[in-house]
Amino acid sequence: MTTAVAPLDVARLREEFPLLGTTAHGRPLVYLDSAATSQKPRSVIRRITRFYERENANIHRGVYALSADATAEYDRVRARVARFLGATPEEIVFTRGTTESINLVAQSWGRGFLRAGDEIVVTAMEHHSNLVPWQLVAEQTGAVLRIAPVTDAGELDLDGFAALLTARTRLVAAVHLSNALGTINPIRRITELAHAAGAVMLVDGAQSAPHLAVDVAALGCDFFACSGHKLFGPTGIGVLYGRRELLERMPPWQGGGDMIASVEYQRSTWAPVPQKFEAGTPHIAGVVGLGAALDFVESIGLDAVAAHEHELLGYATERVAEVPGLRVVGTAPMKAAVLSFVMEGAHPHDVGTILDREGVAVRAGHHCCQPLLRRLGLPATARASFAAYNTRDEVDALVAGLLQVRKVFGG
Ligand code: PMP
Repeated sequence: MTTAVAPLDVARLREEFPLLGTTAHGRPLVYLDSAATSQKPRSVIRRITRFYERENANIHRGVYALSADATAEYDRVRARVARFLGATPEEIVFTRGTTESINLVAQSWGRGFLRAGDEIVVTAMEHHSNLVPWQLVAEQTGAVLRIAPVTDAGELDLDGFAALLTARTRLVAAVHLSNALGTINPIRRITELAHAAGAVMLVDGAQSAPHLAVDVAALGCDFFACSGHKLFGPTGIGVLYGRRELLERMPPWQGGGDMIASVEYQRSTWAPVPQKFEAGTPHIAGVVGLGAALDFVESIGLDAVAAHEHELLGYATERVAEVPGLRVVGTAPMKAAVLSFVMEGAHPHDVGTILDREGVAVRAGHHCCQPLLRRLGLPATARASFAAYNTRDEVDALVAGLLQVRKVFGG
């Protein structure tokens, strides 16, 4: 992350994002909520518009040129995503997002292969979307959910995790980059341990795919889930990477058009992967937009993005220390893009509301990680999260806003 890469031209980059030029409460918008969703560059917005204006047709159906071209573009983006993640196109399933990708694995792999008494291990820092689907499938199959502990600093306790692995462990599911704390988990090591126990490994990459160069082959994982909207792409489109042999063995999870080989009244056979998992008309424009988003990401380079965000997070961490009574939540040495904090005497929601009046958009709440916050003894935190387009000036605006909060609440 600290290797020498050409620095980003952030001022130029920002010009690509129309929304970053808008105002909030009469002040220039300081958007520090990219962990929730990233803003979109013109190239993505234009690509989606062009698709609807000139290229729109359903895929896999028509013999006419418009449909054949839409199908070719859809397939091209699948290959594009495969390249982005270090996989093959057959291993890339389009979904609505990370949440749906994880539910797909839980309902297809989980219901297909989990038996009563089997164990699923997740970490204590999972987003609800990498916890609740496992609760559901545990209830459906009689499998048991085990929770790997985290330290007070917000790091995975690797020994505690390893101690949970037994011959009964069938699946390990872990977040790559925590949306609530910014912690980067040692996924390669976690995967090695999971595999040594004979378990399948799923990675929640919702936050890592936008900030770290991901290579599923290097990580060694069996499943990797991510969302287009956090990666400068449109909402409603996401990706599940699944190792081919696993996808081939898994039963479909939704039935309908496009996922079949042949259908009779009483039974059907399935299309090859990945179509087996893509029932119905997919989000074609979303896929096309995701392709443009990946082109955009690659044009700036994830290494340059990671270096810029690393520098910015370091600067922000240093500067918020100037705010009396502020405590950073999540102090793992390996962190990226997320700065969660609490302020003595001020509820995070009030912090968020006062910052909003200053034009600074941060998130306040449990960040869909209620059990984690409970573990850390907090009802909520305020969270600033960064993307390639954020600047030191914006960090300064955040700190000025926080000093304002301090004035309102005293101390
Ligand atoms: N996991 C993590 C770590 C996330 O940050 C998010 C989004 N906040 C999700 C899963 C769910 O992603 P989506 O809502 O796009 O399905």
